[in-house]
Amino acid sequence: MLLSVAVPIPSLDLLTYSVPDGVAAPPVGARVIVPLGARKVTGLVVAQNAGADGHAIKPVVSVLDADAFVPPDLIALAQWTAEYYACGVGDAIPSLLPPMARGARVDAHKTIRMASITAAGQEALNADVLGKRREALELLAAAPLGIATPELVRRGISSDVISRLASRGYVSLRHDRVDRDPFSTGLTRVRDVSDWSDTPQTSLTRVRGVSDQSETPQTSLTRVRPLTSEQDAALARLLKLARAGDFRVALVHGVTGSGKTELYLRLAAAVLDAGRRVLMLVPEIGLTPAVAAQFRDAFGGRVAIQHSGLSDGERHDQWQRIRRGEVDVVVGTRSAVFAPLDDVGLIVVDEEHDSSYKQEESPRYHGRDVAIVRGQRSRALVVLGSATPSMESYYNATTAKYERVVLEKRVLDRPLAAVTIVDMREEMASEGPDVVLSRALVAALGQRLDRQEQSLVLLNRRGFATAVLCRQCAGTLDCPNCSVSLVVHGDGQSRRARCHYCNYTARVPKACPLCAGPYLEQTGFGTERIEREVAHACPGARVARLDRDAIRRKGALANLLSRFRDGEIDVLVGTQMIAKGHDFPRVTLVGVVSADVGLGMADFRASERTFQLLTQVAGRAGRGEQAGEAIVQTLYPGHYSVRLACRQDYPAFYEKEIDFRRKMRYPPHVALINVVVRAGTFAGAMDDASDVAQKLRATDFHVLGPAPAALGRLRGEYRAQMIIKGGKRKAMREALLAALATRPDLKKRVVVDVDPLSVL
Ligand code: ADP
Ligand code: ZN
Repeated sequence: MLLSVAVPIPSLDLLTYSVPDGVAAPPVGARVIVPLGARKVTGLVVAQNAGADGHAIKPVVSVLDADAFVPPDLIALAQWTAEYYACGVGDAIPSLLPPMARGARVDAHKTIRMASITAAGQEALNADVLGKRREALELLAAAPLGIATPELVRRGISSDVISRLASRGYVSLRHDRVDRDPFSTGLTRVRDVSDWSDTPQTSLTRVRGVSDQSETPQTSLTRVRPLTSEQDAALARLLKLARAGDFRVALVHGVTGSGKTELYLRLAAAVLDAGRRVLMLVPEIGLTPAVAAQFRDAFGGRVAIQHSGLSDGERHDQWQRIRRGEVDVVVGTRSAVFAPLDDVGLIVVDEEHDSSYKQEESPRYHGRDVAIVRGQRSRALVVLGSATPSMESYYNATTAKYERVVLEKRVLDRPLAAVTIVDMREEMASEGPDVVLSRALVAALGQRLDRQEQSLVLLNRRGFATAVLCRQCAGTLDCPNCSVSLVVHGDGQSRRARCHYCNYTARVPKACPLCAGPYLEQTGFGTERIEREVAHACPGARVARLDRDAIRRKGALANLLSRFRDGEIDVLVGTQMIAKGHDFPRVTLVGVVSADVGLGMADFRASERTFQLLTQVAGRAGRGEQAGEAIVQTLYPGHYSVRLACRQDYPAFYEKEIDFRRKMRYPPHVALINVVVRAGTFAGAMDDASDVAQKLRATDFHVLGPAPAALGRLRGEYRAQMIIKGGKRKAMREALLAALATRPDLKKRVVVDVDPLSVL
């Protein structure tokens, strides 16, 4: 028998191996150790009865599991992911494995002890061996290639029993040296490539691993409060869909503060009562620990929460618990879409528009889209929730592909924030060109301080100044490795210029490095400058900043959020991080400095992103008893994404934007594949990209470019870009893969992004 085996090595496709005579074929999902060149690696069986592929086929070295280690439906989901996103199965497989098995370095070795039954052992089985020893021999008799000793331990056979059997000659032990071994605790502990390790620390880190809890399932909510009539109607519709036990996607379009989380909790309870399981995806647990905490409160120990505070060991245990069926609800970020949860009846994708669902490295999958495919395969209800749905999801809701559930009101009839737009051109005309905070915003901040209420101030740009400019030669201080200017961080002594792409840092010079002129000027401002301006404008205010720089230290994020919640901070300045689903009841003012930062970008999603960010951040105000206010500063008060976000008019925005997408042929009207070719020289990158583009053009797809990428140089490499546009992803992908197959030398230098979120 021939097996198709996936090995967790980037850009490798399926490999074929044979099963030696007399060995039972391992099932789909079992781990096998296979030879790969001079090495031995652990792989997963993807299919039995594979066809011969013309190469000399080697036999597997050993079979680690008699049953599936990874559920077969997840193996199929990974295959779908690899195909759809045009990467190797080897890229997708690590997402399926418990954390410690992922990302193991190729050169990390580990010997694994394998036990097999001997002839004497077979004899003994016919005699009077009893108890654990009999159990062990029976297990081994069914596994002619042997079983790894840790696996035997997992199955309740202690190493003591194994050694005793070995000393009697019933069992033989041997050592196999393997790479990428899922058992190699500690040995291959490398940075996890998934979002868990990137997600900042959360207050949930105080919640211990859940493995020691063994509460009985608690499928009814402990804290019951009446739903609003809108929530009630929405829940009734969703329950009906969930109870149908069939695949369906529902878009819950509910304004900020309309109580969507409450709906998810009740829906989850109903699905659990029906005996099925629930997957809850959230953008970043660190930024919104409250959602996870509410699930924990409602469902107790049957909930696994996947967050960055868990150690590799805890994550590994959690994966095993889920796999063993001891968990009914998994709450996690993007990668949790591959959690080994059986019989999923409900998948919720909260804040489905959030860009953190897209993985920006291979496999470049979108968690929401994989969730929909998973839901389809397990006949589940998939709920996409957002106050600002992605264009794709809303489009699917208007074409009736998705069910649409609308929540138009906030709970308890709390009004949406009243929004004032400040035209900064007028402000500059009266206050001078250097004005950063408008008079209206300063006055409003002062009022909040007097009333002991809290404020949020958003600027979606980090740093103190965004560029250093020479007034004599107009030169800028640029990164030597990337085609961007350096951003100034810090003030006074600690001032440094830093590249946001490669982290190159330099001292801010006194004279221009190009013309030696002494007229260097810092231009553009970021969150650090705003923090200082607010402190200056509001003496006595307790001001803090929340952005990626401010939370580098472990625990800093949880600390900031809890200080703000406890009222120890009056004004929180920050990037889009402050716009995420927080629920701070004492915030009554949201200020937006430069609402148009994102609009300058040559990206087809610029307006959509701006609209989402402004709507979301305005939604943070007035969530408690007091009404909220938002003050939005902009140079383009007439731009539709600014204007309509201020009116919180999603449908009007959608109409305008979908029209633009239709005219310009952008998603959701067409599909895109973004292809970037990297090379050591600019000409090299362009030549290689042109070659691929030419081959693609022969196939009548629309190809834009190649052209130098917007970020033409990154970490010392030049980048050329082309965009394939068309109606049929599958055909586009196949044409691209065929074109790339003619240039195997490019394999390591091409980035293929199917359904890119950004084409910059
Ligand atoms: P969304 O996710 O839609 O922005 P949330 O789920 O965070 O909204 O709910 C907003 C606030 O309203 C939360 O503080 C939540 O506890 C509260 N809430 C939700 N449903 C109800 C209800 N039926 N009655 C009272 N308060 C509610
Ligand atoms: Zn750089």
